[in-house]
Parts: sequence; C-alpha cells; structure tokens
Amino acid sequence: MTTEKPLRPQPQFPEPDTEPFWEATKDHELKYQTCDKCGEVIFYPRAHCNACGSLDTTWNVSKGEGEVYTFSVIMQSRHPAFKDIGPYALAYVDLDEGFRIMTNVVGVDNPIDDIECGMRVKLTWEDQGEGNIAIPVFEPA
Ligand SMILES: [Zn+2]
Repeated sequence: MTTEKPLRPQPQFPEPDTEPFWEATKDHELKYQTCDKCGEVIFYPRAHCNACGSLDTTWNVSKGEGEVYTFSVIMQSRHPAFKDIGPYALAYVDLDEGFRIMTNVVGVDNPIDDIECGMRVKLTWEDQGEGNIAIPVFEPA
C-alpha cells in the first residue's frame, strides 16, 4: 500500500510560453520576465510584453520575498491533492520585484487567524516528486 500524497494538477508540455518557468522550478528558482524594450515586469510567463507587445523579454530569478496582497481560506476541497489537508490559504502575493503571483500561504497553524494582508512572506517549495516540477508557495518571513 502506498502512502504517497496525490499530486496537484500538473502543467502539460510542450507549452512554449510557460515551460522555462516550470523547468526552473525543478531547481527551486522562481522566474519572471522583464521587457527588453520598455522595462515592464511580466508575470505570468508569456511570449510577449503585455505593456508594449515586444517579443524581446529576459528571464530573471526572484529573491522570493514579498507580501500578501489578499487571500482566501478554502475550507474544503474534494480534489485528491487537497481533500486531506484541511483549511488552506489561497493567496495573491506581491513580490518585491514588482509582480503578483497566485499561490498558497503555508507554514501557519490556522490560516484564518495567522495570515493578514500586507504580511511579509518568503518563498518555499512544494516538490511534486523526483524530477518533476515544484510548486512555489510562501510562508511567513
Ligand atoms: Zn514592453
């Protein structure tokens, strides 16, 4: 009998716009793009700058530090990857480099009482098995 935890829904490849992002998660690097033409910070990963349309972008590695913009606590999910973990926080986190990511805030006893908007958080990783992608999540800084 296996006690392995079911995986979250996984990205499907090939996926040219987001594959470099997911590949970097295997090394626990949170990557984001900046526009070579206008300097815009670009996130989620995509082929073009959403400010000026340029196709010239550069990948950068985030320091993984930021603050909770907002969050909600999911009390019950029937998905196999989530059904046994109890209440968990789905959040938007604003990274110090200037982009916002949808993520989870983990590492708190009670997500209802222990998370606040504006709270400083730092990146940590939820591995999805040997050789697979990892999920960027955040814990109190
Ligand atoms: Zn641009």
